[in-house]
Amino acid sequence: MKRFYLLMIGVLCSIVLLAQQPKYIFYFIGDGMGVNAVTLTEMYMAELQGRIGIEPLCMTQFPYSGQLRTFSASHSITDSSAAGTCLASGKKTTNHMEGVTPDGSPAVSVAEKLKQEGWAVGVSTSVSINHATPGAFYAHVESRSDYYHIGQQLTQSNYDFFAGGTFINPNNKNNADDPNLYDMAEQEGYVIARGYADFLTKQDAPKMILLQPNEGLDKNKAGGGCLPRSFGRDEDALTLAQIVEAGIMSLSRNEKFFLMVEAGQIDMAAHSNDAATVIDDMLEMNKAVQVAYDFYLQHPDETLIVITADHETGGLTLGVGSSSLKLKLLQNQKVTSDTLNEHITNLCEQYGKRLKWEQVKQVLTQDFGFYAGIEITPEEDAALRKQFVIMQKGKDKSVKTLYSEIKQLSNAALKLINKKAKVGWITTSHTANPVPVFAVGVGAERFAGWHDNSEVAPTIHKLATGKVME
Ligand SMILES: [Zn+2]
Repeated sequence: MKRFYLLMIGVLCSIVLLAQQPKYIFYFIGDGMGVNAVTLTEMYMAELQGRIGIEPLCMTQFPYSGQLRTFSASHSITDSSAAGTCLASGKKTTNHMEGVTPDGSPAVSVAEKLKQEGWAVGVSTSVSINHATPGAFYAHVESRSDYYHIGQQLTQSNYDFFAGGTFINPNNKNNADDPNLYDMAEQEGYVIARGYADFLTKQDAPKMILLQPNEGLDKNKAGGGCLPRSFGRDEDALTLAQIVEAGIMSLSRNEKFFLMVEAGQIDMAAHSNDAATVIDDMLEMNKAVQVAYDFYLQHPDETLIVITADHETGGLTLGVGSSSLKLKLLQNQKVTSDTLNEHITNLCEQYGKRLKWEQVKQVLTQDFGFYAGIEITPEEDAALRKQFVIMQKGKDKSVKTLYSEIKQLSNAALKLINKKAKVGWITTSHTANPVPVFAVGVGAERFAGWHDNSEVAPTIHKLATGKVME
């Protein structure tokens, strides 16, 4: 009789355990998304409605949240490849290393493990698909800059779904005889779709790479190959929300799936200290999260959504010297700071020495709302004009950050709009500030509280398979 009870307890335990295993896992990573990037966006949305407070993003309404420490094996302040490696595999590594431990041995990712266990696996991003964060889920190379070999390992991963901007460095710079990454992907059985409409016609393909419709940004630059931002983009431009929809369509043919989604441009905007663009990227991510959340609502007992960030970027601060924020002013910014700079550069090239301040002012009005939606004092006008004079004398020293290089004048405009909105930035690099984690669904409670970034992947793996991740 005793043995019978023990057996029954065993059976009940396994039923409970099985019921606690998610079949559908979404793992979102906001690159550079610190707590304040989230709060900036929520407070901006409330200000647009004419009130002080927040308009909650989808992720902050999840029932469980916490914070992660992000230091790497080599530095107090991690880079994206060491953080990506850790979020993917649970192993801390040296900054700049990608999918390997400090001694160079592979840091096997939760995506690889689940693929081996028979799960369908997708890796997606709003930047190039061989960038540091997505790469950490499928590649093992000494350096994150080795884009060609990261891309090569993508094509050999046998994962079911990839999506993003494009490949950076699709040709091997060091050996012109090596095949192009796009050709290599097709040889490995991948179907390449260009944009969402094209995807819909090819969606039955068992191995899919979904990319933006055209190459757009310079694919040979570290910041190239991204999805276009919402500012004035083409109607057929691929969005992160469409990527999640496509990912679900492709992967849900299988019994179980894992989909990693990186919102990769928050970091790029924060490196440039461009607050309005951070908000734009956060809202794009929010739409993508909403797609996954809608899926969760249809499958609440089988789905897990975990959202976090690899590190904070910029030391973004809400509040500069007074008790007010004026975030609503940021709605006047209609383009990124890079695009503003491009417009000013175009004027310089077109008019040279004949360029008039009034023409530049017009661009500042169109792009940043200066002298219109945003009032400019005589002192501020004089300071901007001083930069114009320096530029016209050919003495402009460009301001360089990781993904961007802009004229002093464009930088002065960007600094001014931050000052007006009362948004502060402490650096154009990363910080060691902790990052938020949000979770909903099966096992979501495991992510509540303070954790280390090395704990996320093993926890996901344990929840998915019931096994400890080696
Ligand atoms: Zn990063």
